[in-house]
Amino acid sequence: KKKKEASSEGNVRVVLRVRPMAKYELEKGCKQVVFKVPVADPDSDGPEAVQVNQPDKRFFELDAVLDESFSQQQLYEKSGAYNAISEDLFKGFNCTILAYGQTGAGKTFSMGTAAGQDPEIKEMDGVIPRACMDLFVNIMTKCDGNAQVELSYLEVYNEEIRDLMTADSSGQQLRIRETLNGEIYVRGLTAVAVAGPAEVGKLMEEASGRRVVASTKMNATSSRSHAICVLRIKGVLDDTKFQSKLTLVDLAGSERMAKTGAEGSRAKEGISINKGLFVLGQVVGALAEQRPKYKRKPPFRDSKLTRLLQDSLGGNSRTIMIACCSPADFNTEETVNTLRYATQARNI
Ligand code: ADP
Ligand code: MG
Repeated sequence: KKKKEASSEGNVRVVLRVRPMAKYELEKGCKQVVFKVPVADPDSDGPEAVQVNQPDKRFFELDAVLDESFSQQQLYEKSGAYNAISEDLFKGFNCTILAYGQTGAGKTFSMGTAAGQDPEIKEMDGVIPRACMDLFVNIMTKCDGNAQVELSYLEVYNEEIRDLMTADSSGQQLRIRETLNGEIYVRGLTAVAVAGPAEVGKLMEEASGRRVVASTKMNATSSRSHAICVLRIKGVLDDTKFQSKLTLVDLAGSERMAKTGAEGSRAKEGISINKGLFVLGQVVGALAEQRPKYKRKPPFRDSKLTRLLQDSLGGNSRTIMIACCSPADFNTEETVNTLRYATQARNI
């Protein structure tokens, strides 16, 4: 197996995606308070800034800022997802793309598949279907078809791992294991060999139907779990074997519980869901720390989410975080929380 190059700075990209005003925000008479700061050269590779005008003017810098004028294809390219999939994965780097933000901010829209087959609807496809398409296109063009792909899909809910690829995973405790090379895997998790993007799409659709969905005041169909799609690739490129892992994560809503009106058992869910996001923030913060004196060991083991991502964050991997937010004053507090989290995650 080819030796990977030493870890380098700048292998994480954090981009902001601001969705258009939602119907409920327009009906409330909300004002727009989140604006992309105009850039002199839109083709430069960032950084870019966003301005939040409430309660007073604040600026945040990210690798790219995409407001509602940006299409799904532009998100795919400007987030770095296109490069990660068509270049880094084929060099043996693990790549991780995470969507972060409060419920209703556009995580699933940015990552998921648009329902329907006609070309106009396909334009609305998010990162996952585009990534799958490019993955298989590159296997043909770069490897002459000489690669195998396996799909797993799981969710982390209340610090428990559930296999979404099988109809009945009840009663089975899935445990995270680590190989001697530091590769992370889940024992007993279903992995299905897939031959093309259509097959992945079909399996993912079936799997999505198995997600734990709980309604909250903010979004009736929001999910309170982290959904993690893993594509493992083993192939041959220029006579050299490589293997890598593409991990696509639709994180649970980052909002605090008060606003969602969570009570009782739902409130308890909220606490442990936030644990994954909290530890993810700590892990990424520790990885981002540049001053040796302050370097902490990233607490990967403190949550299931971060333990699962241990071999796919930092080190020799590529990480893309798509922070999603609303443009409206009603959601400013959560938007600012998201921006704080996102800016702390830069410079791994
Ligand atoms: P989340 O997954 O973060 O809870 P969703 O992706 O479900 O949020 O988005 C909430 C609503 O906003 C959905 O109806 C979705 O279609 C819409 N939406 C989100 N982002 C965009 C966007 N960039 N352009 C158009 N509609 C969007
Ligand atoms: Mg969602």
